[in-house]
Amino acid sequence: MPHTDGSRDKAPQAARAAPSKFRGRNNTNTLARRVLVLDPVMAKASPSRRLGSVARTAPRTKRCTACKRLKPLSAFWRRAACADGRDRWCGECRGGYFRNWCAAHRAAYNTRQRAYYRRNRARLRAYNREYQRRRRRLMRSGRWKRRRAVG
Ligand SMILES: [Zn+2]
Repeated sequence: MPHTDGSRDKAPQAARAAPSKFRGRNNTNTLARRVLVLDPVMAKASPSRRLGSVARTAPRTKRCTACKRLKPLSAFWRRAACADGRDRWCGECRGGYFRNWCAAHRAAYNTRQRAYYRRNRARLRAYNREYQRRRRRLMRSGRWKRRRAVG
């Protein structure tokens, strides 16, 4: 079969026009831009109004594809590669999977964490310093709330 026919010539064009799958595709700003394109009224609205419209119209719950339960969007970890910017698994399912993965790949996990710390040492140290300062201050005044255990 010759590869010079019309349908084949169009394929690379479509591939180039497709949006990148992994870079912030569905964060709120991207959704606001989409509203701008699709809605003639919102096209004239201010950016903050457009964002508000996204916040009102976006679904607030979704079903976890692992445990099949319907949960609020906030129960899902953020994930830029997913259509709505949230993971397909709920936090409980993803957390459990992640804990098991870490237990099974302890060495790989530690290596990765050390590399990350080395790359971001200054920023992480500054953050931890500030965090502990704030924690000590709150503990002294008895306002430090312990986080509940995960899971
Ligand atoms: Zn789940």
